[in-house]
Amino acid sequence: MPMRSCKVFSRLVSESMDRELAPQQRSALRVHLEKCAGCAEFESQLKLLSEISAMFTRPGDPHGCMTAALPEDARARIKAKLKSLG
Ligand SMILES: [Zn+2]
Repeated sequence: MPMRSCKVFSRLVSESMDRELAPQQRSALRVHLEKCAGCAEFESQLKLLSEISAMFTRPGDPHGCMTAALPEDARARIKAKLKSLG
């Protein structure tokens, strides 16, 4: 597995968060993620981040004013996870 391809695939991972990938790109990415722990981890981090940002930008709350309403333990978990991501 040439490590150089990780750069390409990590870009595909982040693109896949914003738009639908072409079928060939999707399947190539899936194959790579099965073999590459680093890129699989990157994908799970991005997914988590997009979940968090979705949480922070709820409909009717474009400025994230409701963030303070998150349960304390949920905020602590998010903070811990963000910290572990560096
Ligand atoms: Zn990789």
